[in-house]
Parts: sequence; structure tokens; C-alpha cells
Amino acid sequence: MCKNTCLSFLFFFLLQPALAQALPEVALVPGGIALLSLPDYQAETVVTFDNEPVAVFPHEDSWIALAGIPLNAKAGDHHFSIKHHTGVTLNTRVKVTEKKYAEQHLTIKNKRKVNPNEKDMERISRERVRKQKAKTLRTDTIPKIDFIWPTEGRISSVFGLRRFFNEQERNPHNGLDIAAATGTPVKATADGTVIDAGNFFFSGNMIYLDHGQGIISLYAHLDRIDVKPGDIVKQGQMIGAVGETGRVTGAHLHFAVFANKTLIDPVYMLPKQQPRAEIID
Ligand SMILES: [Zn+2]
Repeated sequence: MCKNTCLSFLFFFLLQPALAQALPEVALVPGGIALLSLPDYQAETVVTFDNEPVAVFPHEDSWIALAGIPLNAKAGDHHFSIKHHTGVTLNTRVKVTEKKYAEQHLTIKNKRKVNPNEKDMERISRERVRKQKAKTLRTDTIPKIDFIWPTEGRISSVFGLRRFFNEQERNPHNGLDIAAATGTPVKATADGTVIDAGNFFFSGNMIYLDHGQGIISLYAHLDRIDVKPGDIVKQGQMIGAVGETGRVTGAHLHFAVFANKTLIDPVYMLPKQQPRAEIID
């Protein structure tokens, strides 16, 4: 019916690591990122990765689809699907390779943060619903993906570590920890809107920012929260301060990033050059 035009709308190619300049880093591993270039993308086109809609944003003369690869993704083939509004659909494979993440053993002094009591468990399950709502939000906003580092400090824990608290295994570490003194400013990584902000049992004072189409950033263990749900924030705007609230061993920012409802390693989204706090003797 519309062979030539339809096909021209559906032209695409998978970005290889070396080609992705000034974009999030391509890492075809669990917890990583896949990018698909869609020069003829139109707003009605729906792009999914393993059946989950992904974010699409303009870049230079093209459009780029960004898919987060879940930490529990199996090595092997995963799929981008590009559905044109005429019903024409094309699929392309993404080959995910295995990545071994190290173990981390931590000692938490507050035993209740490792083995919560019954009342704590009620609170945790209420908070789980609230967290689920925040992290699965999907708005139509065209996402801003030119992330900046949210604070200055030392990376004290990386993404993906298998975690043992007081020798009991818990969920893997799903963000990036940046150690800094309590009170160090925490900035919005990109333009966004505050989805939720408040105190949580494990995460302490926490903020969720929506950057559009499922790209969401999260800031936890804050000493102070300077924003409220619904606030529109600019990239670099101070939204709170580093602290040690929730399940922690010391003052740090836990920074996490969601794409298509999955947590990805934030370092793939951040500039390679990390700002370092000034060292005063
Ligand atoms: Zn953390």
C-alpha cells in the first residue's frame, strides 16, 4: 500500500559503542543501555524494548531510542520493536552479554534496618506501593538526557554489586553511591519535575525526578529535601543535601536512574569527567 514511504519511516540502526558520541554510553550488558537511531521517527511511532515502551529523544539530525537493560536480563537476544501508526512493525535484535558483578559485605549498626520488625514491615509495604507508582510513571515529555553529576564527592559504591548486610543477602546495589559530607548540595541531574519526595524506611529522605518518557532519577539518604512533588526543576538546581538517613553506613548520595521501568547503571548516563570536591587541608 505505501511500501516506500512506510519503509522510509522505519529506517533504523543500532548504535555501536564507538559511534555513540555525546550520548549515553552504549553497554549491552545487564544494567546497561542500548541505543537505536531512528532518523525518520515520528511522534506516532511506538518503540519498545522487550515489549516495554522506551524513551525517544532528538539528537543532531536524528532521533534516538534509549532502552534500559534490566540487571536481571539474561545474556542473549533481546528485541527492539518499532511500530509505525500504519501497523507496520519492524524488529531488531540486541545481543546482551553477561557481566559479572562483585560482592559487597556491609555491617549495619541499626539491626532493624536489616531485619525490620512487624510495624516496620507494614511501613515498608506501604512505601513499596508508593515507590512503584513513582518509578513506573510515564509522561509524554521529550526526555533530557544530558545528565550532569548530582553532587561532588568520591564514588564509594558502584552499581550492580551483590549485597550482603550483616552477612544476609539483600537486593543488588541498584545505584551509584557518592560519598560526601552531610550538607553537600545535591543538584538535579537534568531538567525535570518532582514526582515524589519524602522519608522512606530504607532510602531515608528521597526525591524522584521525572525527565520524560520513563527516564527518572532518584536521590536517596538526603539530609534535607528542598523541593516538593509537582515542582519543576532546572538542571543543576539544588534539590537537597547529602545526608545519612535510612539504611546507611555513612553520609553519601545514592543516585539511581530508571529507563523503561528498569534501573540502569547511572555512570552510562553521566559525563566521563567527574567533578571532585575541593580538598581543603
Ligand atoms: Zn547506594
